[in-house]
Amino acid sequence: MRSQLVVAQTEASDIGREQDKLESDIDQVRQRMTRDQDRLDSGAITSAKDLESLQHEVGSLHKRQRDLEDVELEVMERLEEAEKKATALGAEQSRLASSVEDTERRRVAAHVAIDKDVEFAQRQRVTVLPDIGEELLTYYEKLRGKLDGIAAVAIKQRRCDGCRLDLSATDVDRIRAAAEDEIIRCEECRRIQVRTAESGL
Ligand SMILES: [Zn+2]
Repeated sequence: MRSQLVVAQTEASDIGREQDKLESDIDQVRQRMTRDQDRLDSGAITSAKDLESLQHEVGSLHKRQRDLEDVELEVMERLEEAEKKATALGAEQSRLASSVEDTERRRVAAHVAIDKDVEFAQRQRVTVLPDIGEELLTYYEKLRGKLDGIAAVAIKQRRCDGCRLDLSATDVDRIRAAAEDEIIRCEECRRIQVRTAESGL
């Protein structure tokens, strides 16, 4: 993208220089024509041969001017095209740049939010740790190592929050029958399932 823009800009400035060169060529031809015409008009040239040769030169210069102007027209068209392309690429690049900036801003914001969540979870963990027996904690940590860092999940509306699968009727019966302090685990994802008021049981 950036290199495409550089190529387009270089092309436009090359064509611009080409046009400047043509302008100065045309200018020289014009000056020379004016000079020749002045000499013709002054009446200072009396020799028929010299007059003829000067008139011939003015004629050639006219033709040369027309040719150069044709070329210049074509160059101006190319220049317009190249500038249009460079402008479009420039706009596209700044659009991309601002979209990258936007994504980066959102990434940073997401990071901040995640850090806050982690901090909150860690504070909560500290408060509940004393209530959990050492044996359960060891079991939990072991499971956590095996299950992508998540060993315990809530049951929400009869759905496991770990694997997001609905509990079967058998699961519901089994969990209802279990004692309140019994550790129950998901048949699917093997995580410890925590019963809450929202479990729908
Ligand atoms: Zn599960």
